[in-house]
Amino acid sequence: MTGKKKQLYIETYGCQMNVADSEVVASILKSDGYEICSEAANADLILVNTCSIRDNAERKVLSRGRELQALKKKKPELRIGIIGCMAERLSETLFEKLKGIDLLAGPDSYKKLPDLLRQAEIEKKAADVVLSTTETYEDIDPEHYQTGSITAFVSIMRGCNNFCSYCVVPYTRGRERSRPLQSILQEIEALYEKNFHEITLLGQNVNSYHFSDAGKEFDFPALLDRIASEFPQLRIRFATSHPKDLSEALVKVMANNKNICKSIHLPVQSGSDVVLKRMNRKYTSADYLKKIELLRKHMPDISISTDVIAGFCGETDEDHQATIDLMKKADYYYAFMFKYSRREGTAAAKMQDDVPEKIKSERLTEIINLQQELSLQNNRRDIGKTFEVLVEGHSKRSKKQMFGRTEQNKVVVFDAENILPGTFVNTVITDCTAATLKGKIV
Ligand code: SAM
Ligand code: SF4
Repeated sequence: MTGKKKQLYIETYGCQMNVADSEVVASILKSDGYEICSEAANADLILVNTCSIRDNAERKVLSRGRELQALKKKKPELRIGIIGCMAERLSETLFEKLKGIDLLAGPDSYKKLPDLLRQAEIEKKAADVVLSTTETYEDIDPEHYQTGSITAFVSIMRGCNNFCSYCVVPYTRGRERSRPLQSILQEIEALYEKNFHEITLLGQNVNSYHFSDAGKEFDFPALLDRIASEFPQLRIRFATSHPKDLSEALVKVMANNKNICKSIHLPVQSGSDVVLKRMNRKYTSADYLKKIELLRKHMPDISISTDVIAGFCGETDEDHQATIDLMKKADYYYAFMFKYSRREGTAAAKMQDDVPEKIKSERLTEIINLQQELSLQNNRRDIGKTFEVLVEGHSKRSKKQMFGRTEQNKVVVFDAENILPGTFVNTVITDCTAATLKGKIV
């Protein structure tokens, strides 16, 4: 081959699954002669990996799409593709909304990208949004170009069968399927050999991982146990766990393996049983709190984070209060908090989106303020304790400070200049904000 390689710029919106998917896309297109670049202005091809989870996520992409249209006017040879959940959900109507887009590919169509690009050259446009019941990209070795050289995401399953009434994911990412065990182990082995120190196993609901290998059944606890014992030097995290499927077996595997981080993301969504039922979450607030009790019984130092939706259909002041009460009892160290956003095609789209915008905003603000307080209290309890920290790099604020994470997933900033990223250091916590711990190396 002669000359410069074609430059590919990928812009990623949304969840960790999308970050992992962009790395799959990068690998597929690298095999087709592309090279990843870090500036849209230098690209021959820009792919926008999109999120449909809430209306504002889609609006952000549409406004970015309009900026890219302007870029293409100045540089007509530029090719632009919209990939991921929005391509799936809006399909060819996106060609109307964003004129000048060359290509659309849904989350199960990434292996077809090289062909779609060639088709777009000939026919001006190309689209593939067919969902698969089997695709797991097990044979693709992702290009880990986003998360640095210390930590990596490893996708273990795709899709979702839960159909929470508010959620668009089962429609944009299709049915649940698990990636074969051997392919997961091979990817982790390769990461280990490249000196990665931490992996996060990813899926919309990792607890429903299921795979049979040589007559042996592997559920998520079995998979996690196998990975933890085969790679004792690696720190292991996972996301996300649906509370209804969190089993005692999983809690014991976490507790018994030193290298599985004592941290869990357990989205509650609401503290009201009536709302949880309407959301089709299949647990009550009491079931949820029992799972938290179980986690803390086996791992007293575990950190628990969550997702909360404010202002779901029919949510009353009492329902909202129940969420506030549950958040206090659960004592989360961190939470992602959202206003309910109606998504066309979901079961909740047929319900009355009857909480006025103003009330939704007030409830969200109350929830955010409470979590800020809980995070601060939670961090204050760490002052004086010593934590092992995996060093990730220099702090953004000062070259004289570095930062890393505890196994509880908390960021610790400490004075140091020349510690190699990937090193483990022990730090004693001396101070904190709601977001960060400050520490001293011991
Ligand atoms: N599969 C994960 C689970 O069940 O916990 C999370 C999937 S989703 C990408 C992340 C979060 O977005 C959900 O936990 C929920 O809090 C939020 N979410 C999903 N649909 C939403 C909607 N229609 N409006 C507001 N928030 C939503
Ligand atoms: Fe959406 Fe529920 Fe599936 Fe999570 S478990 S992706 S919230 S449908």
